[in-house]
Amino acid sequence: MTGQRTASWLLAAALAAAVVLLLLLGYAEGSRSAGLRIGVVLNELEGSLTITFVVPGGPAGRAGFQAGDVVLAVNGEPVHSSQDYDRVAKRFQPRQPISYVVQRGGKTFPVTVVPGVPLEVWPFVGDVLASLAYLALALLVLAQPRQDQRTRLLFAFSAAVALELALPTMPVVGRQAIVTFANVAFYVLSALQFSLELHLVSVLPEQPEWLQRRSYLVPALYTVGLSLAVILALLYTCDFHSWPFATGDTSRLRAGILNTLMPLWAVLVIAVLTRTALTHPEPSGRHRAGLVLLGNTPWAVFIFATTAFNLLERPWPAWMEAVQPFVLLAFPTAVFLAIFRYQLFDIEFVVRKSLIYATVTGTLLLAFYAAVGVGSVLFSQFVGGGASLWVVAIATLILGLLFTPVRQRVQGIVDRRFFPERHAMRQRLTSLAADLASLGKLSLMGKHLVAELRGIFQLDSVTLLVADPKSGILLTLATTKTDLDENFGLSFLLSPDDAGVQMLRRTNRAIAAATLIEQSASLAQRLSGFEVEVMVPVTSRGTVIGLLLLGPKVSGARYSAEEMELLNLFAHHVASVLENARLFASATFDSLTGLLRREAVLDLLERELQRAIRYDRPLTIGMADLDYFKEVNDRFGHLVGDTLLNRVAQSLQSGLRSTDAVGRYGGEEFLLVLPETDLTGARAVAEKVRSTVERISIPVGKNGVIQVTVSIGLATLRPEQRKAAVSVTELIAEADRELFRAKANGRNRIEPAS
Ligand code: GH3
Ligand code: MG
Ligand code: MG
Repeated sequence: MTGQRTASWLLAAALAAAVVLLLLLGYAEGSRSAGLRIGVVLNELEGSLTITFVVPGGPAGRAGFQAGDVVLAVNGEPVHSSQDYDRVAKRFQPRQPISYVVQRGGKTFPVTVVPGVPLEVWPFVGDVLASLAYLALALLVLAQPRQDQRTRLLFAFSAAVALELALPTMPVVGRQAIVTFANVAFYVLSALQFSLELHLVSVLPEQPEWLQRRSYLVPALYTVGLSLAVILALLYTCDFHSWPFATGDTSRLRAGILNTLMPLWAVLVIAVLTRTALTHPEPSGRHRAGLVLLGNTPWAVFIFATTAFNLLERPWPAWMEAVQPFVLLAFPTAVFLAIFRYQLFDIEFVVRKSLIYATVTGTLLLAFYAAVGVGSVLFSQFVGGGASLWVVAIATLILGLLFTPVRQRVQGIVDRRFFPERHAMRQRLTSLAADLASLGKLSLMGKHLVAELRGIFQLDSVTLLVADPKSGILLTLATTKTDLDENFGLSFLLSPDDAGVQMLRRTNRAIAAATLIEQSASLAQRLSGFEVEVMVPVTSRGTVIGLLLLGPKVSGARYSAEEMELLNLFAHHVASVLENARLFASATFDSLTGLLRREAVLDLLERELQRAIRYDRPLTIGMADLDYFKEVNDRFGHLVGDTLLNRVAQSLQSGLRSTDAVGRYGGEEFLLVLPETDLTGARAVAEKVRSTVERISIPVGKNGVIQVTVSIGLATLRPEQRKAAVSVTELIAEADRELFRAKANGRNRIEPAS
């Protein structure tokens, strides 16, 4: 960690030093050259050095130079190329006349020029500011505690632009090496930006799956960028070196390459960002891409505009030159915001809302001060001039005190008037969170919560899983889904070790199911056909105690970022209520099956037995045990076994009257307590249970299903037992013996049979 810190510091220092040195070099060379320049543009045309442009009013212009003049000699030395000219120019002195021999229209004549043009300070200041802005951004990125691939790319990109803008741009006289360096560095840094920017937008908000699969794409991107740099740099050097493969002026060729590549680049960047902005499963992911797309717009527009000017061979307007260093700045700034400072919000919503707030608050403030102004004028007429000062001071003090409560009221009113649906949604969520606590029982809370959430967000379905305090396994507590058989339904459960659940625990935020599925194949399998769009963790002290599985919206619309944020807030609010209810319930109810725990059902049986004996009422109990259940575990694993147990428990519960009770006596043994029921009645109940269990089928794998049967042993309170005040233990022992007989007699049956 400290090593990384040191490396960051060194990197920052090196970059800053490089930028500052380049800027100083540019300034020193520029101001030195200003004293030596005569205000012409020289080009090598057909083996001779030709003046292609004369700055009007400059030293050369005043001395009578014209475009098209061929320079034959300078200060007595013959020149044919830029290098020749440079060699002589090295010895120029400021304000010392330079003598030229010029050829114009077949005539040769001497011209003497006193060099020296004014320094062009403003474009330089623009470059300095822009370069320092990018440097600051690069350093800011480096200073962030969280460093990952995206931040490294953003740093590299900002650093490349900072360096590029720091390169000397003022004309340099007599130092060809500096000019060559600046141009080559410009091509290398530009090509690097090309690769870095495309790479960067591809991994926002995170590395997408398509890029991961095609691991060759990134190296290819940088290879293309580097080749481009090499080609452009070589072409540039052709202008003054006689390379074997090309000689002469390549500026048109280079311009052609750039005019093709720049718009292509912009289109690619826009395409990648648009794709993410439209298809990313997370609303925040779509917004981040949208934000970067927005930040990228000035640059893209600039590219298209300059390309158009270039293709039409028109000079850029002056303002375009001036804004050039800055147009790109919005892009890395947007990326920075997207990575580090992104609060989940609807940009459109926040903008609309803050506009309304600002208008309302501003109007009120103006009205207030207008009233104070009028008041103080009137007041001063009665009391005298000095008093108005006091009035304003006191009014401001009152305003200061009232500002916060008044602003909150205004916000409340604006919310209600302009955003009624959102306001109502917020209100309903707040009252739902408050209502839950009053329901007391976990199961009731679950039912209420899923039904209400479904209504508030207009969802297709809502399911709430709650973690078993001991094992941490997440089990369905309540669901609005009605097609239970098709989709595991109430028996849906998840392991706390699942990678998707782990991700929810770490982030502690609502996440799109599509994102989670990428994390965990087992989750993908469990969710297939379950139609879940968003999962919201409910956490308490760093563990997931509950999980909301939210189906798609009825309208088909996607979840907005604000809704995700509301869900996070809601989950946060209900966490403690849910946690308390869960701990309380775990003392009475078995978490896997939701049935009474062994101790609880035995307590209940004890009370019922006493009552039946005292009032001479019938009572029957049943001991139910699943058949060959070990095989299910052995073949499909414990989790599937648990799922099946849970399903069986649901069937048991639903097959009973409200006065009947059922508890989980052991692993896969259930105790039925049937008050006011004789053996005949109990047989009917048991038969109903048996046949319901028989019909349960749980899909596994592609086409397989698991089925299970149950054997039940019944024991009814007999007259002699009543007299002898039989104990719970004895009654249970009898039911156990009957169960044993049912097993021995072939299973999937009830004993005594008749
Ligand atoms: P049978 O009752 O028909 O004689 O056969 P069986 O295989 O069901 O035998 P037994 O009733 O003795 O089964 C106990 C098995 O039930 C052991 C264990 O594999 C399984 N079991 C018990 N409790 C649990 C539980 O909480 N979860 C899961 N998945 N399996 C359990
Ligand atoms: Mg069994
Ligand atoms: Mg058993």
